[in-house]
Amino acid sequence: SSFVTGIAAELRFDPVTGLAPAIVQDADTGQVLMLGYVNAEAWSQTQQQGRVTFFSRSKNRLWTKGESSGNFLTVVSLHVDCDADTVLIRAIPTGPTCHRGTTSCFEQPEQLQAPVAPIGFLAALERLIVHRQQFPEQAPTSYTVSLFNKGMAKIAQKVGEEAIETVIDAVGGQRDTLPGEVADLLYHLLVLLVAAGVPTSEVIAVLQERHRLPNTRHLTEG
Ligand code: AMP
Ligand code: ZN
Ligand code: ZN
Ligand code: ZN
Repeated sequence: SSFVTGIAAELRFDPVTGLAPAIVQDADTGQVLMLGYVNAEAWSQTQQQGRVTFFSRSKNRLWTKGESSGNFLTVVSLHVDCDADTVLIRAIPTGPTCHRGTTSCFEQPEQLQAPVAPIGFLAALERLIVHRQQFPEQAPTSYTVSLFNKGMAKIAQKVGEEAIETVIDAVGGQRDTLPGEVADLLYHLLVLLVAAGVPTSEVIAVLQERHRLPNTRHLTEG
């Protein structure tokens, strides 16, 4: 399939069980969501439908993740490993992947910090902000919802204020308060991008394109 990348695109299933382990990773945050197993039929169905289907060893049947909860895993890309006996599935989850209601099966509900790379948290935060915009009634006292209600002019003004506070701290050598101001700036920038309908992936793609062309000057400073 054109979905599959890897040294060997053909997945080799365990000769005894007919299964291969499949690691599912959030395509935006990089968070490892769960581990399941695929047989030949589940693997082909995953590619054809673009939704992750496992072979459940406890149910002893094909299992499309989300079939009863609605929390599907939409395939972004499939990657077979070096010796073609394991697959990495990058996917976008519809909702919590774990049946306990956590984002990831590797997350303890009482844990405050999800096991996600620090930079990946920005993508998780972006997703929450999009959710606030789409379902404001679910969080009537949310500050993010109040920003969306006030509109773009107010959001852009907040970005300007936080940028100025960042500049003041940086120029003044206020090392201790700088992280908090940059956090304010990043959060309000994410709200601005969501309000403008621009996914951060599009911004990252611009950075990646510039990175690909190292000899070109892109900076606009005077
Ligand atoms: P779902 O596939 O989300 O509709 O869930 C159907 C059933 O599969 C649940 O009731 C659980 O028994 C099981 N299940 C769902 N998600 C997981 C998971 N991440 N790991 C293991 N079992 C799961
Ligand atoms: Zn391997
Ligand atoms: Zn789980
Ligand atoms: Zn601030």
